[in-house]
Amino acid sequence: MSIHDILNKTEFSKEDIVQLLKLEGEDEKSLLRHSAKIKEENIGNKVYLRGLIEMSNVCAKDCLYCGIRKSNPIDNRYSLEENEVLNAIKFAYDNRYGSVAIQSGEISSTAFTEKINNIIQGSKELSNGEIGITLSCGEQNESTYQKWFDSGAHRYLLRIESSTKELYNKIHPADENHDFEARIEALKVLKKIGYQVGTGVMIGLPFQTLEHLADDLLFMKNSDIDMCGMGPYIEHKETPLYEFKGGLLPLNERFRLTLKMIAILRIMMPDINIAATTALQTIDKIGREKAIQIGANILMPNITPGKYRDSYALYENKPCTDENADDCKSCIDVRVHLVNHEVGYGNWGDSKHYGKKQQNS
Ligand code: SAM
Ligand code: SF4
Repeated sequence: MSIHDILNKTEFSKEDIVQLLKLEGEDEKSLLRHSAKIKEENIGNKVYLRGLIEMSNVCAKDCLYCGIRKSNPIDNRYSLEENEVLNAIKFAYDNRYGSVAIQSGEISSTAFTEKINNIIQGSKELSNGEIGITLSCGEQNESTYQKWFDSGAHRYLLRIESSTKELYNKIHPADENHDFEARIEALKVLKKIGYQVGTGVMIGLPFQTLEHLADDLLFMKNSDIDMCGMGPYIEHKETPLYEFKGGLLPLNERFRLTLKMIAILRIMMPDINIAATTALQTIDKIGREKAIQIGANILMPNITPGKYRDSYALYENKPCTDENADDCKSCIDVRVHLVNHEVGYGNWGDSKHYGKKQQNS
């Protein structure tokens, strides 16, 4: 089947997606042009900001790919104080970012869950209820998710990492702390509570095939997600998966594959929010802008206090680690204008997909 026949379909099969992921040259460009058009028609050219706060690199889990995994002997484990997080949120509010995203290693102690709760409440107070809050703090029990929601968090990002159980198990330790079904269940609970739910995967993992990636996109569609954050896998020396480095696609190929994944997802789910992730910027200095051009609509400028940035090293060569939030802010407009988009300042930029579901329910 020709690429144009596939692109004109209303639903993609797994085979269609694999064929699209294989595209090169002019056909690849046609795919990216098509997804850009779908985006413009459905959600326009606005880019919404989530000021990203990397709250803590302390983690109880041991994911085999992640630089801050529990068993990695890092000297500088840190947890931001409540007031440090609130200052960063104030910065986002004062600069009309509209929303923040609080990301952290996974901890489920009462001290941690209460701290997040206080931060959510504090941020609503300091912004007259105006700042939007996305959380990405891993798997928690239902009552914690509910409590955070009741306090004012309204979006949650929990990547499935891989929707194929066999692959998930290859990139996580085999113990009850890293359970594929539990992760799926957590996504269902978040949806039941009423969050706008986001998920995603890493692209270019060891052992990953195009068929796995096609299944990931179908998983997202079938789960009726509201948001997606997916990016290239970037190896970290101090992790167990590093030994499989030899079999990885070159970084530029992982980058191209990520853009194709974003483009295909945009065509499959025209009105969801899709983030242009930091890992894209690690491979290509204007990688996030390229993602915005072809389908992404969310940018997450890092507003973590500068002195902690180096310590949140999920992978190597993470960008902007020596900058303060102010430095990043000055380049946001320039970067977004570069690809003929505009920043939606002072706006939550919620998922249109979620909004439509709410209206119909
Ligand atoms: N701890 C929470 C969790 O895992 O859901 C949230 C923070 S975690 C650092 C955020 C994401 O970082 C993970 O979902 C994973 O996809 C990504 N990540 C971790 N290690 C990575 C790597 N080596 N390359 C690319 N992304 C990575
Ligand atoms: Fe912890 Fe998240 Fe890293 Fe896994 S990916 S080790 S849960 S921070």
